[in-house]
Amino acid sequence: MAIKRNIDEDAYSFYKYRETEEIHIYKGKFTSDMECNSSRISICGKVNKVTEDTVRVFSCLNEEEARKKAAEIGRAVCGGCVSHLYSSY
Ligand SMILES: [Zn+2]
Repeated sequence: MAIKRNIDEDAYSFYKYRETEEIHIYKGKFTSDMECNSSRISICGKVNKVTEDTVRVFSCLNEEEARKKAAEIGRAVCGGCVSHLYSSY
């Protein structure tokens, strides 16, 4: 069953850096039910986007899903990104 996305909703994508194994979160907007764009800079503001040194772990999650995933993944997710995720109201 496809999940219905609200185009106005923020979309979150998780990218892992091969070298540090740290995961940073990027915010964007949904462009359709399954697709989204993402910002150039991680939500913690520290890391530039996505190079060949990054691996996409999850993409196009809504805020609730992103929080769940971040909790599941735990410490590997950048603390700055996680706190942004919880302060984005
Ligand atoms: Zn971060």
